[in-house]
Amino acid sequence: MSNCDSCASSSQCSTKDKEKCNSKDNKSMPKYGNIKNIIGVISGKGGVGKSTVTGIIATRLSKAGYKVGVLDGDITGPSMPRFFGVNEKRAEMIPVNKTEVKFIPVKTKLGIKLISLNLMIEEEDEPVIWRGPVITGALSQMYADTEWGELDYLIIDMPPGTGDIALTVMQTMPVDSMIVVSTPQDMVSMIVKKVVTMIKKMNIPIAGVVENMSYIECNNCGDKIRVFSKKSAQEQANYLQIPLLAEMPIDLDLVESLEKGEAEEYVVNSSEYEALIQKII
Ligand code: ADP
Repeated sequence: MSNCDSCASSSQCSTKDKEKCNSKDNKSMPKYGNIKNIIGVISGKGGVGKSTVTGIIATRLSKAGYKVGVLDGDITGPSMPRFFGVNEKRAEMIPVNKTEVKFIPVKTKLGIKLISLNLMIEEEDEPVIWRGPVITGALSQMYADTEWGELDYLIIDMPPGTGDIALTVMQTMPVDSMIVVSTPQDMVSMIVKKVVTMIKKMNIPIAGVVENMSYIECNNCGDKIRVFSKKSAQEQANYLQIPLLAEMPIDLDLVESLEKGEAEEYVVNSSEYEALIQKII
């Protein structure tokens, strides 16, 4: 017997059950009333810039005047606290009754509310050696047990990969739309296409693809040199069969600001990233 396309369960279910199971409205977690939009940022392949794009989108949305939260779903490799330069801070817990506690997100300089496992463990370089179900459970808990308050956008840096963890998170979290991150390399596109197919099977809307590290700008003439591929970003979007949201340069100033924990300030002042949110909001 073949596994269910959407949930990988080997138990038999009727067509009607499958439709319900695939529906984006049938998530095991609710969308809390004071969070208006939940956007997942996903890539399928590590190292393409998913977390960096998450940070940039959150920063630009905040600059545009929206109330923004970020949930660092990359449980085994959380990097959002470093992007925002808040890795020395720790999320507080407050009791809501005798048995329950809530996490208070750490606020970035712009006021973005951030929750990450690295803001909860003692040392940021402590490894998290957990199996899939524990990782997905921790992420659900971080989402549900956080006092998010009122948010226009909650951006989730989705777990990497195309396996069980990514699938379970897609089934669990009430994501309104997904932003896919890729780089201009055929091997990356091939893996990213798997993610796109997965998202489509789950009936989650896809806003489009951000092509990261598309080009480097020549310091002398300003020409855009496509380092990894002669194909255009639009060709990659056509291959993935989703809209192109933006192409982002290889940006050495961004890397330097990331190293210093000053990426938020850099991104908020850089005109380079203005276009990134135009097709999202
Ligand atoms: P992922 O979340 O997909 O694993 P990251 O966002 O952590 O990827 O990025 C991987 C590395 O690439 C990081 O060292 C980051 O600083 C760097 N990087 C990401 N985007 C860019 C960019 N546009 N220009 C230069 N370096 C980048």
